[in-house]
Parts: sequence; structure tokens; C-alpha cells
Amino acid sequence: MKAKTTMKKILCGAVALAAAVSLSACVMAADQPKDFTLRTSSASAAAEYVVANAPAVSSRKVIIKASPAKIRSGPGKTYSVIAKTSKGKSFTYLGSKKDKKGNVWYKIQYTSSKTGWIISLLGRLTNPAATAKTTAKTTAATTTTTTTTATNATSAAESSSPVTSTTTRQNVGVSSVASTTATATSASKTTATTTAAAKTKNIIISGNPVNIRSGAGKNYAKIGSTSKGKKFKLLDTKKDSSGTVWYKIQYTSSQTGWVMGTLAYIEGQAPKSTTKKSSGKVAYLTFDDGPSVNTMKILDILDRYNVKATFFVIYHGGMTKQYKAIVSRGHTLALHSYTHDYSKIYKSEKAYFADLKKIHDYVEDVTGVDSRIIRFPGGSSNTVSNKYNKGIMKTLKKSVAKKGYYYHDWNVDSTDAAGRNRKASLLLKNVKSGTGKKKVINVLMHDTGKSKMTTVEALPSIIEYLKKQGYSFEAITEDSTLIQHGR
Ligand code: ZN
Repeated sequence: MKAKTTMKKILCGAVALAAAVSLSACVMAADQPKDFTLRTSSASAAAEYVVANAPAVSSRKVIIKASPAKIRSGPGKTYSVIAKTSKGKSFTYLGSKKDKKGNVWYKIQYTSSKTGWIISLLGRLTNPAATAKTTAKTTAATTTTTTTTATNATSAAESSSPVTSTTTRQNVGVSSVASTTATATSASKTTATTTAAAKTKNIIISGNPVNIRSGAGKNYAKIGSTSKGKKFKLLDTKKDSSGTVWYKIQYTSSQTGWVMGTLAYIEGQAPKSTTKKSSGKVAYLTFDDGPSVNTMKILDILDRYNVKATFFVIYHGGMTKQYKAIVSRGHTLALHSYTHDYSKIYKSEKAYFADLKKIHDYVEDVTGVDSRIIRFPGGSSNTVSNKYNKGIMKTLKKSVAKKGYYYHDWNVDSTDAAGRNRKASLLLKNVKSGTGKKKVINVLMHDTGKSKMTTVEALPSIIEYLKKQGYSFEAITEDSTLIQHGR
């Protein structure tokens, strides 16, 4: 591709890793729709709210997980913002409702005389004192623990570290990843045992703190948190796509939830101190610049192999179905940028964050996902940005972390961005040579439609090859190993 400085939109992938490849990785966004209207109409959003639950209301608190968090006059994005609150604040919980998009909202006592609503993604609901057999005192203690241990608890993948703990987070390496998937081998045995006698079994929490989620996987929303030694009735067990076991528990008298099997054990069955380790090899498949006409095909292939992946998306009009499908089919919807226009986003720090906020809010509007996982257009090591603001990447790498974002580069490049429809066999070859003996790989691919048909074509062979090499596939979460250039 020629370097066209005047082009409005540039869709780039592995730009500038090597100077030689530099602009060859860019393609014109020929299929980029013209419509940039942001908020698709959500007029009748107030129509059908489902009343969820409300017993034991007064004993429960909602603890705010991120700053700033908006408090609204009703359970939905269409309601007005009546106030903003910040991380760590605690409010009395009054009930919850689901909006039409399936997002749960908590009703809170905002002031002594006012109530408000907050999206559940931004609040942690505590146990009701009655069911947890613990007094308000222990609830308070749990809260403190969560806050103070947050920064060093990253090795326990399911620790409730707040999103803003990023600044202290380091490249955690392979061992922690291995530990999260380690007990996969004991899975079949566990499943057999519990399905037989699920009604009478309890599980004991062995990690501290441990997240309780709405489903059997790390992609499901956190609905609460518990601590070491707590006991819950076991209702079911399930394995997620990476082979990790999850326990379904009776969380409160009215609510069920899921905890990761590595952080709990069945009562009467001593926790395995020496769990057999898996290979510990993890592959993160990543798709940039979508969604596109290829997204559904990619999702079908991933389903066929029962593999989860990560999509670093930009704004494309008329693609709400695709954004939603990425989420509903269990993958990670992560942020790339709104415009992907280097000349705009890398002009200044302010311009970068304005663009990032735009895609963040768009994605949240469409799917309800409040994503903190990002990839810089061109990667964090791109040098193209120097053209617009020398040294800006150094600044941005620090400031995104301060704002609670986790940025991921890649260490295996399929090179599908280096031209239009490069041969599928070449893409596979490049993945093979890039993978080598690496323990954790982040594989760069693109989901940009007609010019990347061969990426779709190559995907099954890439997955099959990596499976044969012993990799387990994971979608990127806030707990994932950070593959970052120059580190
Ligand atoms: Zn890109």
C-alpha cells in the first residue's frame, strides 16, 4: 500500500514493528460505512424491565468498583445522570432490575432522601448478613481485604482486583496462567462426583478473595465476592472452554453464582495441594479492526473448535449484531480505537483519549460491556505516531495504565495485514515460525472483510496447529498475561 497522508481512514495492523513493513500494513477502509451517528435510538428502552429480586434488601450494600460511576434516575442508560460517585463508596442496596439489553441495574439509597440506579458492572453486591451467617463486621472486613490485597493478588486469577490496580501490574509471566488452568485435569472426576450427589455437597472457598460470577467462566459478570473458609451449597459443576472447572453455588437465599474450581474444594475432599499442571501453554487469538462481514464466519469457526478469542474492535456502523455476537458467544470484546486514524488519535494525549472514550462508550451502549482491554492502533511500539507527535507512545503507555486500561500487543504476527488476501498457507507458516517455543502467545490477525478472506481460510489450520502444540486457548481478561512490546 502507498502512504497516502491525505486518506481519511487508515486501517492498520502490524504497522511499524519493523520500519520496512511500516506502511505496507495499512489498507484503506473501503468498506467503512459513512454513517457515524453514535447513539442508535434507544427510545423505547423503558418499555420492558424485568423485576428481579428484592428480599433481604436492607442488609446488603453495593460497593462501587470504578471511578467515576454514574448514578442514574432509572435502571437504564436512557435515564438521566443524577450524580457521579467513585470507587470504594458504599450504598445500601434496594433491589435490582434488568434493562432490555440484559444489563442488571442496582437500585441504591444514594442519600438519606434520594435513591438512584447504577449499572451492576460498576458495583459489587455484598452478601446479605442473614444468609452469610456473618455480621456486618465481617462484611466490612471482607471489603477491606479486597481493597488492600488488590494489587498483589493478581496471581490468583479470580481475585477481585479493581480495574484501576493496573498501574502496579507487571507482566506476570507464565506461572500464574498455569496455575489458573492447573486443575483442569481433575475436572472429569469432579464432575462425576458432584452430579451424582450435588444436592448434599458443599464447597469451601480456598482462595482469598474469590469472585462470584453470573456464569461458568471468567467472561461472566462479577456479582459478588467471598473469602477463604466460606461454605456454600454446591448446585452444579461445569467446565469452561479452557477446561477449568466452575462450581455453581447458592450464593444467597435468592441468588446463585459461580466460582472458579481452582479456588474452592468440595467439603470432605481435601484440596489437592499438588495439582497436576497442564502444559501451561496459552494462546490468545486476537482479531483487530472489525467487526466485518467476516465476523460471523470467524465466530462459527471458533465455536466449531470450542475456542475463545479476543476482538479489538473499531467503530463500524450497521454492525451491532456482530458486536453483540462476540459477547454472547463468550469472546472478549476489546477496544482498538473509534476512528483508527493515526493522524487524529496520535496528535495528542487528549485526542487519543477522546477517541478511546468514544469507542468505549459505543461498545458499552451496544453490548453493555465496560471494556478496559485495549490495543493501540499499530501496537505500542509503532513509530508512525511520531509523525504526528514525537514520543507520544511513551506517554500513552503510562497514561492508559493510570486510567485503568490494560494494553496488549502481540508476539506472533500472522502478517495478514501486510497485504490484501495473502495466501492462507503463508499466514499459517508465519504463525508457526512466530510461535516457536513460546509459552504464551498473542496471535495478531485481522477481521476486516473482503481484504482478509484468507484469514478466515487460514484460521482452522492455525487453531489445529496450536492445539497440536499443546496450547489452550483463552480470551483475554483483565487477569491475562500482558504481551507488550519492549518489555
Ligand atoms: Zn488496527
